[in-house]
Amino acid sequence: MADLTLFNSLTRSLEAFAPIHPGEARVYSCGPTVYNYQHVGNMRAYVFADTLGRALSFKGYKLTHVVNITDVGHLTSDADAGDDKMEKAAASLGKSAWDIARHYQEAFEADLARLNVRKLAHPRATEYVEAMIEWAKAIEAKHCYRLDGGLYFDVSTVPEYGRLARASTDEGESRIDSVEGKRHAADFAIWRATPPGESRQMEWDSPWGRGAPGWHIECSVMSAELLGHPFDIHTGGIDHREIHHPNEIAQNQAHACGPDTGARIWMHNNFLVDRRGKMSKSTGEFLTLQSLVDRGYHPLAYRLMCLQAHYRSELEFTWEGLGAALVRLKRMVMAVEKLKADMAVSKQPEGSFPLSEQELALFDDAISADLATPEVLTALEGVLSNKKMPAAKRIQLVRIADDLLGLNLLELTRGDLRIDPADAPIAQDEIDRLIARRKQARAEKDFAASDAIRDELAAKGVEVMDGDALGWEWKL
Ligand code: AMP
Ligand code: ZN
Repeated sequence: MADLTLFNSLTRSLEAFAPIHPGEARVYSCGPTVYNYQHVGNMRAYVFADTLGRALSFKGYKLTHVVNITDVGHLTSDADAGDDKMEKAAASLGKSAWDIARHYQEAFEADLARLNVRKLAHPRATEYVEAMIEWAKAIEAKHCYRLDGGLYFDVSTVPEYGRLARASTDEGESRIDSVEGKRHAADFAIWRATPPGESRQMEWDSPWGRGAPGWHIECSVMSAELLGHPFDIHTGGIDHREIHHPNEIAQNQAHACGPDTGARIWMHNNFLVDRRGKMSKSTGEFLTLQSLVDRGYHPLAYRLMCLQAHYRSELEFTWEGLGAALVRLKRMVMAVEKLKADMAVSKQPEGSFPLSEQELALFDDAISADLATPEVLTALEGVLSNKKMPAAKRIQLVRIADDLLGLNLLELTRGDLRIDPADAPIAQDEIDRLIARRKQARAEKDFAASDAIRDELAAKGVEVMDGDALGWEWKL
């Protein structure tokens, strides 16, 4: 097998993956803030993390993967000022912050399942507040100072603060709101004391007053508790390369009393953008996975759309692009359906032929080259269209590709991929019933009846597509 190379944002270079614990891979991915639904840009980050996890499993590593849930502490500014997003959402919806967190976490997990992201445990930040307080106590004397607002981290106390952010540090710092009394613009809150006379729904007692932890401390503490420091790979969206991850690194170094950054490899997925730029929760069209499903698209078409781009490239979301991904997925599903039929005819079950070294390497070379999923897809399509290879063998390779890419090609049917908008004027089974009746009429050469059915469908917005190359029988 090829060596797995991954792009490490810390060194800005490709590095061969060398696990800290032989045979194991430990991965931490910054999870969502659960004060709202996730948009499809957020979901790109988790499709990426899942693809990394699948690649590590494919390479034979025993994987431990954590995606946490930020149910406390994330402020409206990326640094340490602004309103608490959870508290704000709670106030505007008239619900408890705890209920809100639970509701949006459930919605997030449902989206992960629809995208065929492998199931993981999702520990919540609120379950680790005691450990965060202990961590803060351990680093306080050498690295922190107190302000009215709580406990702040002095970034000049660790070596090479912000190395991960590099050239973008200026841009990063310009986004940090100033807080009276901070020693450096980049200093950040470890503990946010509740202002006198106010109260928060989510608050805890601490040596720095009643309050809530800062956002960055949660990931240092949870990764240490759940994976042990140092661990192998830390992931997040590329925005985290500028502030959140440099701050995590600073805390990790303070706690380790040395230069160790906590994770060896830091990986970042690029943004999903639309015409207006980065898709974000506050600006632009707020596209959720559900809104794609409501327009009739199967969630795995979005997963394929993500995999068609390299994770380090920007990906532009357009409806045309999503439609093209859906058509591509459908082509693959149809090819697999044909393979299954061929296998039944040849009576050669899966596993009849051992795979050669070369065949086993088909996907390995691409995925090992920093997760080159576009090339894995091309290799897969090569297998699907390779008429010289027995169907039983091709199906075996499809199974490997399914494990690696999570496209579920062996289970999906053409019918699953039909564009089926929530507000369609007519139900799918009704259409299928009419199409079947029309087929029968045509078989009986009763063209009057067949035309009548076509007109009836047209009146309901359904176009019948005879002889369509992709096998669609109708479209809306
Ligand atoms: P948040 O809940 O805002 O912390 O975001 C959750 C994850 O989604 C983080 O890893 C972000 O970096 C990532 N993310 C946010 N917006 C986008 C986007 N437009 N494209 C890709 N990833 C994103
Ligand atoms: Zn994080």
